[in-house]
Amino acid sequence: MKSQEIRAKFLEFFKEKSHKIVPSAPMVIKDDPTLMFTNAGMNQFKEFFLGNSVPKYNRVADTQKCLRVSGKHNDLEEVGKDTYHHTMFEMLGNWSFGDYFKAEAIAWAWEFLTEVCKIEKDSLYVTVFEGSKDADQLGQDTEALELWSKIVAKDRILFGNKKDNFWEMGDQGPCGPCSEIHVDIRSAQEKAKVSGAALVNQDHPQVVEIWNLVFMQYNRKANGQLEALPSKHVDTGMGFERLCMVMQGVQSNYDTDVFTPIIREIETITNTKYGKDEDINIAIRVIADHIRAVSFSIADGQLPSNTGAGYVIRRILRRAIRYGFTFLNTKEPFMFLLVKVLSETMGKSFPELKDQRQLIENVVKEEEHSFLKTIGFGITELQKQIDLIKLSKKDINASKQESDEAKITGGMAFYLYDTCGFPLDLTELIAEENGLAVNIEGFNKLMQQQKDRSRSASEVSKEDWIVLAEDPHQEFVGYDNLETSVKIVKYRKV
Ligand code: ATP
Ligand code: MG
Ligand code: MG
Ligand code: MG
Repeated sequence: MKSQEIRAKFLEFFKEKSHKIVPSAPMVIKDDPTLMFTNAGMNQFKEFFLGNSVPKYNRVADTQKCLRVSGKHNDLEEVGKDTYHHTMFEMLGNWSFGDYFKAEAIAWAWEFLTEVCKIEKDSLYVTVFEGSKDADQLGQDTEALELWSKIVAKDRILFGNKKDNFWEMGDQGPCGPCSEIHVDIRSAQEKAKVSGAALVNQDHPQVVEIWNLVFMQYNRKANGQLEALPSKHVDTGMGFERLCMVMQGVQSNYDTDVFTPIIREIETITNTKYGKDEDINIAIRVIADHIRAVSFSIADGQLPSNTGAGYVIRRILRRAIRYGFTFLNTKEPFMFLLVKVLSETMGKSFPELKDQRQLIENVVKEEEHSFLKTIGFGITELQKQIDLIKLSKKDINASKQESDEAKITGGMAFYLYDTCGFPLDLTELIAEENGLAVNIEGFNKLMQQQKDRSRSASEVSKEDWIVLAEDPHQEFVGYDNLETSVKIVKYRKV
């Protein structure tokens, strides 16, 4: 089944169950100082859950453009290295605002996966909240357990802790237990060797979480205590690309038709082959993923820049350019050429890609152009040091001194990283080509100093939302980048 059809099936299924199908909210959030990018389907419904506004429909379903590159949901470092986390992905979801609860949510999720998608029941596992012994003293989610027990074999129901099976919006607000559905797509032979149950939530690329059903039934008060919510809600989220992987019988999200047209285009442009060499594979996956994140952001009106959300987007694009530069030997702008295929494959569901194609191409091309120039400048600077070291190596014969000298200084590596946007591996690669090493210790020391400086000035967000503290002596200081990942900097006391 083509990805287009899979998306349509999901929406159709919930439409038949009286859900209003609503459009995806923008991925870039403009009117919420506490969240820069949509990172889950429920973001756009937050005010309903908080009781601040009343929904027009009490059953809703959609596919939501999400970006997970900061705060509690920061998957950036996984992207490209694994085969099932993206920066930008679609989250399919269905919601009940004070209408149906666990019984329907569980029964429908199971019906959709096993009857509509025809996923074999014995490749699915479900998880149930086991309860907690901490201050909350929550019991097991026996309600969900009973409901699942009616439809799922006992050995396929697993218990999960608070980290995996209890969802909270933030320090305060609606929260509740959740049930996740995981799928095991390994071969029968592999399954016979190790039970899938042992691999759930273990970062196994073929035993992955596909759907999370959250049952909001509590409200966490400012003093940390839980109280029952007057009306209960359902919030579910399913990874669309992961569902496509399962439905299309492939082993990686990147082997689905969501990604293959982009990957084929990268192969053609860069004259490389996906699937042969792991470094090249990672680079291709990073580029295929990041062009989506960047294109969707620009289509939402967020251009790369040096501050806020724009800076996050610039970093993502530069990360992809660097991977291309290092592993695919791309020395000229090329990512802008991928926008055409992307808008052809996804433009039907997200017309903004088609409408804004020209703009996206121009912006990406310009960014590539200027960043490649920076890389060029960095390389010249690095080459100067390499030449100096080589010269002094000729003069110095004392072997001890020679080994100390024959390293790119930590200061140079840090300068290249901090000012020119060079990742350490790029500096190492160039050094290696010249028979030199890099003083990693020195680099790490400078990096640590920079981190300490940022940390003392900020806090790092762990939650979905930052609850605005009632302290007037605070100002929003935006996002900050630490290492290659992007972390959110909250409010700084002034
Ligand atoms: P995981 O444990 O795999 O990181 P999660 O528990 O963080 O997933 P949820 O917050 O529960 O994910 O989001 C709901 C669903 O969205 C997940 O079940 C998964 O299918 C999908 N999903 C989450 N993060 C990503 C991502 N980075 N890329 C693609 N799909 C994702
Ligand atoms: Mg996650
Ligand atoms: Mg999870
Ligand atoms: Mg989850």
